[in-house]
Amino acid sequence: MKDCNQCGKCCIKYGNGGLSAAASEVEYWETFRPNIYDYVGGSAGGNLNGTLSGADSGEKIWISPDTGKQLERCPWLRQVPNQDKTNLDKSSRIQYTCDIYYDRPDDCKHYPVTIEQMVADKCEMIEVRDLDNPQQAQLTLDKLMVESRPSLS
Ligand code: SF4
Ligand code: SF4
Repeated sequence: MKDCNQCGKCCIKYGNGGLSAAASEVEYWETFRPNIYDYVGGSAGGNLNGTLSGADSGEKIWISPDTGKQLERCPWLRQVPNQDKTNLDKSSRIQYTCDIYYDRPDDCKHYPVTIEQMVADKCEMIEVRDLDNPQQAQLTLDKLMVESRPSLS
């Protein structure tokens, strides 16, 4: 299991309507981060990490404050040049950062949750040895994520 290289695949995939926020998160944003609260709207049918949080629904994010419609891309996702000059692969010359990193939704803080999810999303933390032994890989992932979410293993 490698460290996250900020490839942005997860944010691009789930930022397009695949995330939701719990009422407590929305209340926090409303009070302390109104610029984030502006992008919340309406009840969502489910959330990415509902099995972890115990929640089966939440508030829809990210909704355009101008049109009231679901945004196709997370408004907080920012593209930056990759600082690793040794990496000459053209597709790796950019990285992504989160403008609201410390106040991002729990759905984002909890990712990645499972090895199956990482494989499906082509998460670049995965290594060949993780595919050979997914149970051990899940243990390793849960240790890596210990400060962000409950363990699955
Ligand atoms: S809020 Fe941040 S971590 Fe979550 S999808 Fe957007 S850019 Fe990614
Ligand atoms: S897909 Fe994986 S490697 Fe890429 S940004 Fe998300 S967690 Fe990091």
